[in-house]
Amino acid sequence: MSKRILILEDEPALARVIQDYLIRDGFTAEVYHDGTDAVATILDTRPDLVVLDLMLPGKDGLTICREVRAATNLPIIFETARVEEIDRLLGLELGADDYICKPFSPRELVARVKAVLRRTDPKAEDGAPPRLIMDDATWIASIKGVSLDLTRREFQILHVMFNRPGRVFSRAQLLDLALPDDAAVIDRTIDSHIKNIRAKVKAVCADWDPIRSVYGVGYAFEL
Ligand code: CA
Repeated sequence: MSKRILILEDEPALARVIQDYLIRDGFTAEVYHDGTDAVATILDTRPDLVVLDLMLPGKDGLTICREVRAATNLPIIFETARVEEIDRLLGLELGADDYICKPFSPRELVARVKAVLRRTDPKAEDGAPPRLIMDDATWIASIKGVSLDLTRREFQILHVMFNRPGRVFSRAQLLDLALPDDAAVIDRTIDSHIKNIRAKVKAVCADWDPIRSVYGVGYAFEL
């Protein structure tokens, strides 16, 4: 059974392109251009994933996301036209599973759809990534019994993301949540910590990078 994707996008040409690419990749994809009945449609038809535009006629994406989330956890990928908007959306804790900024390539969206489905579907065990263990009593992170030798700060940053797989964190959020006592650090400090964490993971597990960079926004831990 192919996975069913529901696309809520009011620009017909864009909606069509997304639909074509998803169908080409083996998905079933339906398009709706108006937000008015979106929540009822989503809850009635229970798609496997929703691609949701922020600005829609009838009812906006934020409201739709909230109403759907009150009833179900089905995966949602938000589309927005402004990268600055993503920070605000993250702060609202909507529970969206990913964010993509327009203009995006349809190929990129299809890749995101697959990644979100992989991580939200407990049955999708194929090619399961190595298991990372984070022991917050000892501050040791390990893969297959081998310690990554993270510093305390690196551990704290990775731990915040690890606890909410897939959620995108801005640099400022990572600073707040992981290093609340470090008054002197600046946003870009996170980048160097992330670089070190990646290098340490790579030293233990050469072909696995658990941290996804989200351009213009921040980072997410990928299962
Ligand atoms: Ca729109």
